[in-house]
Amino acid sequence: MRVLDVMQNSRLSIINFHGIGSPKRVLEEGEAPYWISEQQYRQFLDLIVPVKDKTIITFDDGNLSDLEIGAKELGERQLTATFFPLAGRLESEGSLGRSHLLELLHLGHRIGNHGYDHVSWKNLDDAGAQKELVDARSQLEDSIGEKITEAAIPFGQYGKNTLERLKAAGYERAYSSDGGSYRGKPFPTPRWSVRADTSQQDVENFLAGHESVARRMRRSLAKAKKQML
Ligand SMILES: [Zn+2]
Repeated sequence: MRVLDVMQNSRLSIINFHGIGSPKRVLEEGEAPYWISEQQYRQFLDLIVPVKDKTIITFDDGNLSDLEIGAKELGERQLTATFFPLAGRLESEGSLGRSHLLELLHLGHRIGNHGYDHVSWKNLDDAGAQKELVDARSQLEDSIGEKITEAAIPFGQYGKNTLERLKAAGYERAYSSDGGSYRGKPFPTPRWSVRADTSQQDVENFLAGHESVARRMRRSLAKAKKQML
């Protein structure tokens, strides 16, 4: 609840993780650069702690490392996150299962929908949209016994049509991977994905971004006021 309240009116940095440590399943083509080491993950979280009220953490793809490493380290720092698993991977090797999702909820985290087959949502036909946006969500909702209101768009690929379909399906928010700070518009809600080549300095710069934007806004407001006088 707190997160949604905060998101109504704040400028936030939203940081997105995929896999941590060693994968326990065969990776998709192009996926490896999105897996980070445990050490990187701990360092990045330590940078988030001081600005946690201005930061949202998300995880895509429903890897087992979400729980085994992700949630464990979050808990030690009293941080929470939103996890976006794939309905089509539930219970499969190296991915989260139903009991894991329930455990994440129990630990105070949130669950959203990342679709069924991990396909692009950019040019979905009606049947594809039904499967990815509606059926996948129903399956995840049945697994956790709670309503799901948020989606994370696979590969950050979307068009105007994707956002319209998400709204029509009843979602309240759709996360993209566009980078930059969140300014209160839920469709899409921009995130920044960390990668294996992401440095601590990169994370610091990203987390500081909302502050410098705020400063810029204050400066231009002050200037506009001056001109009005
Ligand atoms: Zn994904």
